[in-house]
Amino acid sequence: MNWLHERYIQDSDKTAVYENGVRLTYGGLFESACSLAGKIQQLQRERIAVYIHNSLDSVVLVHALMQAGVEMVLLNTRLTRHEVVAQLKDIDVDTVIAAAEFEADELTVIPLRVLQDAPEAVFDIRTPSEQDILSIMFTSGTTGKPKAVSQTYLNHYASALGCAERFQYDGQSNWLLVNPVYHISGLSIIFRTAISGASLYIVNKFDEDTVIDMIQKHHITHTSLVPVMLKRLMKKEWTHQLEGILLGGAGATRTLMAEAVERGLPIHNSFGMTETCSQIVSVSYRNDMLLKGTVGRPPQNVSIKVDKNNELLVKADNVTPGYLNAPIERVDGYFKTGDLAEIDDDGYLYILDRRKDLIISGGENIYPKEIEDVVNSVEGVVQSAVIKKKDENWGEVPVLLVEGSPDSEDLKHHLKEKLARYKQPKEIHFVDEIYMTSTGKVSRAKNKEIYDAVIDR
Ligand code: ATP
Ligand code: MG
Repeated sequence: MNWLHERYIQDSDKTAVYENGVRLTYGGLFESACSLAGKIQQLQRERIAVYIHNSLDSVVLVHALMQAGVEMVLLNTRLTRHEVVAQLKDIDVDTVIAAAEFEADELTVIPLRVLQDAPEAVFDIRTPSEQDILSIMFTSGTTGKPKAVSQTYLNHYASALGCAERFQYDGQSNWLLVNPVYHISGLSIIFRTAISGASLYIVNKFDEDTVIDMIQKHHITHTSLVPVMLKRLMKKEWTHQLEGILLGGAGATRTLMAEAVERGLPIHNSFGMTETCSQIVSVSYRNDMLLKGTVGRPPQNVSIKVDKNNELLVKADNVTPGYLNAPIERVDGYFKTGDLAEIDDDGYLYILDRRKDLIISGGENIYPKEIEDVVNSVEGVVQSAVIKKKDENWGEVPVLLVEGSPDSEDLKHHLKEKLARYKQPKEIHFVDEIYMTSTGKVSRAKNKEIYDAVIDR
């Protein structure tokens, strides 16, 4: 599989990538990537980490590593140097190509500029096989230590095909890259556009005005956003020619989606994981089911089901062959996602919560997310988090942490009215901040740590 070579043959003059006034055609992108690939091969490494932001140079680097046949480890640039070093140690990688400022004595750090300026080297075009590893990406670490997920060529290819089927983009589409490339929602756009021959427009850093300006100026048709970004964009008035906005990474609230549809924004809700190489189900604004709380149905190359404990199982070509630093759970060829879910008779998926977060209180199942959804809709609440606490009588009980200043009687009234007695939080604490991950998920691990250290002394 060599999709960039395919584009070079078929669409050499077409815009491949655009950033701040600089445009590369597929011909130009392929040639730049091959030139850099020759230099990368001189480093004689099988696996190299990349410390990159969303930029044209970074996109060329990603394609160059692919042409060179070197597995790329995507580093989250929001992590501290200490965290990055620990992650790389965990998977035995000692070399980093850095397109942005990054230093670490423990590692060999090669600035991208230095590599670009190295003498040209001989390079022969290669065709990797489907099962070769293309990228290695860490999970968000919402529940604990991030797992290093290997993603093959086939994983990315299958993910792109599934996405094209549901999201209806093609070679004429203009994609806007907003999400960071070290998350699968960002990286997958680089591959999707190259596989389909669409054009990729880059936003270096999220900012409402820049995103809106790019959408309008470059006739952007498709983009992918995390819900917090959409929320910020909706505070502004703007016109657009968008055909699709893929929402993912974290749950979007129904209120947000209803407002978006009302404003004529063509949103698609979706669900996916790093392990499934981006989204595996989605639902479009054209479908009434969007506002019923479902995250959608799978495309034809993805099979989903739930086991007797309600755990979501996935079988598809986009599912990872495994982690580099942890065992992977499978049953009958299905990947066990760790998410609890329901699937209705028409095949629509509803996410309940994570298996790890499920609270079993006196034999009853309590999903923290259900309580949080109720609390987050109360006036004055900025964000809530429900954590589990051991209890002598009930085994486990829910504890509610709230950021914001709602009327406490109003909050209690909402809880009583909307939730069964056994789901009522046994403690309510008002806190300065609920810890969220960069994609906008409640960080269970971090909030529990704070609770244990500060509140439950
Ligand atoms: P870790 O595995 O390290 O704890 P993580 O699971 O948050 O972190 P990701 O792979 O980035 O790492 O995120 C995938 C998870 O995000 C899913 O398993 C699911 O729990 C959650 N998720 C993604 N999309 C949605 C959605 N639309 N609604 C609810 N949850 C979602
Ligand atoms: Mg996970």
